[in-house]
Amino acid sequence: MKKIAPFILTLLCAGTLATQDKPVTIEAGLLLDGIGGARRDVVITVKDGKIALISPAAGAAAADYDLSGLTVTPGWIDTHVHLTWHFGPDGRFATRDPDAGQAMLYFLENAWADLMAGFTTVQSVGDIREKALRDMITKGAVPGPRVLTSLTAVTNVAMTPAEIRAYVGKMADEGADLIKIFASKSIRDGGGRTLGDDQVQAAIGEAQARGLRTMIHAYGDDSIRACVLAGCSQIEHGSLATDEIFGLMAERGVYFDPNIGLVIQNYIANKPRYLGIGNYTEEGFAQMEKAIPLNLEMFKRALKIKGLKIVFGTDAVAGAHGRNAEEAIFRVEKGGQDPMAAIVSMTSLAAESLGLAGKIGTLAPGAEADVVAVASDPLQDIAALRNVRFVMKGGKIYKNDR
Ligand SMILES: [Zn+2]
Repeated sequence: MKKIAPFILTLLCAGTLATQDKPVTIEAGLLLDGIGGARRDVVITVKDGKIALISPAAGAAAADYDLSGLTVTPGWIDTHVHLTWHFGPDGRFATRDPDAGQAMLYFLENAWADLMAGFTTVQSVGDIREKALRDMITKGAVPGPRVLTSLTAVTNVAMTPAEIRAYVGKMADEGADLIKIFASKSIRDGGGRTLGDDQVQAAIGEAQARGLRTMIHAYGDDSIRACVLAGCSQIEHGSLATDEIFGLMAERGVYFDPNIGLVIQNYIANKPRYLGIGNYTEEGFAQMEKAIPLNLEMFKRALKIKGLKIVFGTDAVAGAHGRNAEEAIFRVEKGGQDPMAAIVSMTSLAAESLGLAGKIGTLAPGAEADVVAVASDPLQDIAALRNVRFVMKGGKIYKNDR
């Protein structure tokens, strides 16, 4: 291999240093730190893509970015999305993508919509094609939120425990960040239990052996209990869960992501685009209509369970990307969640659920410089989350509409 002349090496290094070493300062009128704290008039110093310092604005030099009229939070985290779900050229939900290139553009559209809506990290659960998307975004080649993916999901009830273990192992080898498991049917089909004890134990046990978290799609006590006792990390939906099962989840430290404010409302708003495809039947829609008040009642009960870690996730599908914050708005406005708790659930608690506590989801020295600003104070009116004016991810600014 040809040796690089020392002076060229010096130039390369100098160039790198010049772009990385210059700190950027952001003045925040109100700063919500993601762990429940609030400070007024501070300056965030960003260096090398990370937060270097947070200091009082008084007496400081003019900041590079004046967000003194805005509320600044850590970048938001959606723990449950589907980046590959989109409407096709005919406007209908696309279940197959004959044109792979065009499909990838739709995925990028979703990723961009989520990022512009303030979500600097998403966990996308259930499509092998998320791998290429994740890796391109991680490389910095295309814009988008940081992506974690399960690649596919364990769904097949016909698989033996040994087959399930092999499947989970294969996903781990392929680079899955977590394992997604369907332990219940869809709510459109009643939400009944599918996988047996030995099957969920195999899936969760193998994931644990490979150091991976497990996210479970489940509605009722029987399926949730089996997964919690097998050591799962997070439960999605839970529409039919009782207080007793919430208590068990709290005791075992299992995260609960109820998806009550966006996914079903989005299906109903886009009904003509889904109707007639798979289980998106009139009956399926009737089940979903019924699930909205059921979910709301369930969420209000879940809020009262001491120690239950209610994390933020939307289950964003086709038509919902970019509106992820609606979930938090619904949880606060209709469900009665405390707005600060809602913000923590989409920042530090979500980060913790992803195994990224301290790295993202908080504004503190050493954390990734993921910074979002909204036009007004979401503690006063949670609908402020709709009005995102500034988005920085890893120190790079993607939106600056002040
Ligand atoms: Zn989902």
